[in-house]
Amino acid sequence: MEQGNSEGDRRIRRVCIVGGGSAGWMAAAALSNALQCGVEITLIESEEIGTVGVGEATIPPIKLFNQSLGIDEGDFVRATQGSFKLGIQFVDWAKVGNRYFHPFGTFGAEFDAVPLHHYWLRAHAAGTAGPLDDYAMAWAAASRGRFDVPSPDRQLVQSTFDYAYHFDAGLYAAFLRRYAEAKGVTRFEGKVEQVALRGADGFVESVQLDDGRTVAADLFIDCSGFRGLLIEGALATGYDDWTHWLPCDRAVAVPCTRGEFTPYTRSTARAAGWQWRIPLQHRTGNGYVHCSQFIGGDEATATLMANLDGEPLADPRVLRFTTGKRKQVWNRNVIAVGLASGFMEPLESTSLHLIQTAITRLLALFPDRDFDPLGVAEYNRLTAEEYARIRDFIILHYKLTTRDDAELWRYCAAMSIPHELQWKIDHFRRSGRLVSAGPELFLNPSWLAVHIGQFNIPQRWDPMTDLRAVDSDRMLAGLNRVMGEAADAMPTHQAFIDRHCKAPAL
Ligand code: FAD
Repeated sequence: MEQGNSEGDRRIRRVCIVGGGSAGWMAAAALSNALQCGVEITLIESEEIGTVGVGEATIPPIKLFNQSLGIDEGDFVRATQGSFKLGIQFVDWAKVGNRYFHPFGTFGAEFDAVPLHHYWLRAHAAGTAGPLDDYAMAWAAASRGRFDVPSPDRQLVQSTFDYAYHFDAGLYAAFLRRYAEAKGVTRFEGKVEQVALRGADGFVESVQLDDGRTVAADLFIDCSGFRGLLIEGALATGYDDWTHWLPCDRAVAVPCTRGEFTPYTRSTARAAGWQWRIPLQHRTGNGYVHCSQFIGGDEATATLMANLDGEPLADPRVLRFTTGKRKQVWNRNVIAVGLASGFMEPLESTSLHLIQTAITRLLALFPDRDFDPLGVAEYNRLTAEEYARIRDFIILHYKLTTRDDAELWRYCAAMSIPHELQWKIDHFRRSGRLVSAGPELFLNPSWLAVHIGQFNIPQRWDPMTDLRAVDSDRMLAGLNRVMGEAADAMPTHQAFIDRHCKAPAL
């Protein structure tokens, strides 16, 4: 085995990250933390091109990313005008007038070998239980506008929820930039204009900036956004287009002055898509993700502007995208991370998470300059699986709609869907069982929330439910009461922030 400083030293010595949006700076921060000696990390970004400037809602694993970098939660929330997120409220998705909550954490605390939701199904059919939301600690707190960190004591209902953050994407990139530069990352301002490929194997050898500077590297991380400057522009990797399953292809976004300071994201279904609402400390982020086949840009913008709960703070910005994924996210010595690797609409706030897992996976399968094809293939396989599982969870929201008041919703209700997702929907409808062929980012409570919230009500509950000596009505009522009491004892979202992580006024 040849390693060390001999002629056979095949270690990666130079890493070049192209792009300085969230993806670029998350990669720079994580790599500068993990690669502790002998590697030069360069990041190139262009202020003139700018970043996508959205990407403000997250899911709970982001806490692990920050922890792995040794970032203090209070510092991070203060620096990014951040707020806390207990889940997503879906409004008008199942049908107009209906609301449900996708909570972070679980529904209740399991009190028996039979999953709690089967007892709920039985009680609900008998009219003795409230909506499923009533049994989620995250919703008990969110619906009261309250927040606290979960308890580590697993005996308490306060341990059954989880949380993530909302934050300002620009401030997040700036925060991580300070972190990465302090760990030795060199930043080049400039536009990459040319990419030089090695004759022998087509690997990327160097990139050239508009001022003539050349940056050579062993490994390139393409974080250049939708354009995929290296992965597509230079290597023509190809793209799998999933528009037939997720037809939205535009978003118009605008921040507004702060309204209600909810500790959750709201997603409101509209005629040709859905509108997000993300409350931060200094403003609220809003956007209308829509399908250009079913609505014009002017009408989409007018709809968004008519549905803000504060005064607009900027002109609305239009973003165009094609839902899908690069055929290979790792091609030769280029790894695409962030929007350069693919995009699924932000309905479940998964894009920043995909950046996080791309980086974690890279560190787990870190190459040397031989770029063993087996390691590359495994990276691509894992990424493809992760994308497909998340994609199916997002499609579920559209497919299960019962709305027939607009073309988009009629299309989605009738469209064919991936076989594995159909199998999950059928299983749940038949038996209330949540099945999966492999590891999922979104666990059973998430799937449960969407199935029930969108009226995919099972035809029966688990037969075991009726073979158990469990007073489930009493247990469910007790859970709901204890959760309400626990939530009432929490500080409001605002009070928690004022106490622990209030950001300076901008
Ligand atoms: P960008 O932000 O586009 O950055 C690209 C970088 O590459 C920039 O620095 C640019 O200057 C640089 N660059 C490009 N070309 C060149 C060049 N030639 N030379 C030098 N530099 C170059 N994600 C979530 O997790 N939660 C959300 O709520 C969420 N909401 C979203 C809403 C919308 C409408 C969209 C479109 C995305 C959303 N996302 C969300 C995704 C999220 O915004 C991105 O995953 C994240 O911002 C990462 O973007 P990026 O860094 O890959 O690309």
